[in-house]
Amino acid sequence: MKPFDFVKPDDQEAAISALAAHSPNVRILAGGTDYLVELKHVSQSPGTVVDVSQIAELKGIEETEDGLRIGAGVTHSAIMADPLIEKHVPAMIHAAHTIGAVQTRNLGTLGGNLVTCVPSMDSGPTLVALDAEVTVAGPDGSRRIPLTEFFVGPRKTILAPHELLIDVIIPKRNLGKPTNFYKFGLRKGQALALVNAASSLWVEDGKFKDVRISLGAVSPVVVRAPKAEAVLEGKPVSDDLISEAGKIAVTECNPIDDFRASLDYRRDLIDVLTRRTLQAAVEIAAQE
Ligand SMILES: Cc1cc2nc3c(=O)[nH]c(=O)nc-3n(C[C@H](O)[C@H](O)[C@H](O)COP(=O)(O)OP(=O)(O)OC[C@H]3O[C@@H](n4cnc5c(N)ncnc54)[C@H](O)[C@@H]3O)c2cc1C
Repeated sequence: MKPFDFVKPDDQEAAISALAAHSPNVRILAGGTDYLVELKHVSQSPGTVVDVSQIAELKGIEETEDGLRIGAGVTHSAIMADPLIEKHVPAMIHAAHTIGAVQTRNLGTLGGNLVTCVPSMDSGPTLVALDAEVTVAGPDGSRRIPLTEFFVGPRKTILAPHELLIDVIIPKRNLGKPTNFYKFGLRKGQALALVNAASSLWVEDGKFKDVRISLGAVSPVVVRAPKAEAVLEGKPVSDDLISEAGKIAVTECNPIDDFRASLDYRRDLIDVLTRRTLQAAVEIAAQE
């Protein structure tokens, strides 16, 4: 590990000032489950590391006028234990539960998962399926953008070195929306997703409404499948249409072919997971 300076600001404002003061030779540390691995192997010092893991403003989960606000510093374990998440977005609990093991979930944060931006990130699909937005802040103020615009490519987001991810907002209109997440890995635990998926929808007068299908590990970033969504939108709920949507979703993704799974296998998974998450969301809708 190369030597570096270390600062641990007390609050969000001090963190932003520290980032601005040391940019561009500065990195943020939250739970460290991704970054410490990287830090041990880099050939150049990061300059200054700003530890945001104890900043209270990044930790809250609360209902606001806009929806449900989840601080970037909230850990996966905190998500799993939170009553507001359980009430409004239980699919986030299922997604968090699939991340690593207990130790990783206790340290790893939602913000760190999104900023690392690997295509297989397990918190991405559910949030994309719920039209989540993120707040980004820097010395010139803050801005809110759709999560889909935050992701740029594998391990790349729109964040500049002097910017901090503050929170994730699930819009009010989507709180309680029937949603299902499913991850398929080669093991039950401690496995990267070969494919992960989330679907959200309302059923109104027996018809699909506001369908969202989101897939991870099948493209450079977590993506939606808009053509598959369109095939369902406004139509009476049916298994045949869900099957059709699964097949269309396959055409909207670019999975890789590697030692973990062949291209054909991943394509099958996209079809199956799209169908499964849609069917599960329909079942949740029927219970409400
Ligand atoms: C053993 C193991 C198993 C894992 N299994 C999974 C898995 O199954 N699924 C999965 O999705 N991930 C998995 N991960 C990856 C990792 O645990 C998650 O991505 C975790 O959420 C990262 O959060 P963190 O707080 O530890 O981030 P850190 O490691 O602290 O930071 C990660 C990156 O995000 C940046 N960052 C952190 N917070 C902010 C912020 N607020 N604003 C701006 N930038 C920020 C850092 O600078 C760094 O670039 C695993 C990791 C390990 C070590």
